[in-house]
Amino acid sequence: MPVNKEAYFRIKAELDANQAVLVAVSKTKPVEEIRELYALGQRDFGENYVQELMEKADLLPDDIRWHFIGHLQTNKVKLITPFVQLIQGVDSLKLLKEIQKQGGKGGRLPECLLQVHIAQEETKFGMDEAELKEVLEKYQAGEFPQVRIRGLMGMASLTDDKEKLRSEFKVLKRIYDDQFPDKVDRTEPGILSMGMSGDYRIALEEGSNMVRIGSLLFGERS
Ligand SMILES: *Cc1c(COP(=O)(O)O)cnc(C)c1O
Repeated sequence: MPVNKEAYFRIKAELDANQAVLVAVSKTKPVEEIRELYALGQRDFGENYVQELMEKADLLPDDIRWHFIGHLQTNKVKLITPFVQLIQGVDSLKLLKEIQKQGGKGGRLPECLLQVHIAQEETKFGMDEAELKEVLEKYQAGEFPQVRIRGLMGMASLTDDKEKLRSEFKVLKRIYDDQFPDKVDRTEPGILSMGMSGDYRIALEEGSNMVRIGSLLFGERS
């Protein structure tokens, strides 16, 4: 199925108006479809599986900025740190330690978002606020010199209840505001990655500056 170009241009314009970054989530989709969006100017793409990401990165242009948005196993970290732009789902101290270890080996420092658990479902990965605080304190104390923590990422509950989605995004924005601007030393603007195909408008209204959109662009995944 071809990508939905109309949707792409419409979403891109909406995001530009909000100064938010679009990550096109291409998991399970073939490289031809990624090329179609690339030809329209899209450079940020998100993938969930290490093997799939590596195979695609090999076949596609070098100036694509790959975002790893899935749950990353520690034994796979070293496979992606040499080339990935942003590891979005850092959901434990253990994982951050491994990224730190691998980060010392390449040229540029791996950039990460810490994933915060905001959804009701138990199955979604992420730290609670106390864990996040602990990790950020260690980071500020200099424990992870080979990693750059750029911001936070979160996934809302799988629901059509708009008020519920909104309240979960509000929680993440509040945590971001509390933990990020003054407490973390950074030289570039912070990243708050929230919003997907079904809820990105609400996420933007609640302060997101990066959204991860798959099915609206590529169609439903089987
Ligand atoms: C698959 C996925 C997305 C994109 O989901 P859509 O509903 O297809 O837009 C966004 N974020 C994460 C973490 C995902 O796993």
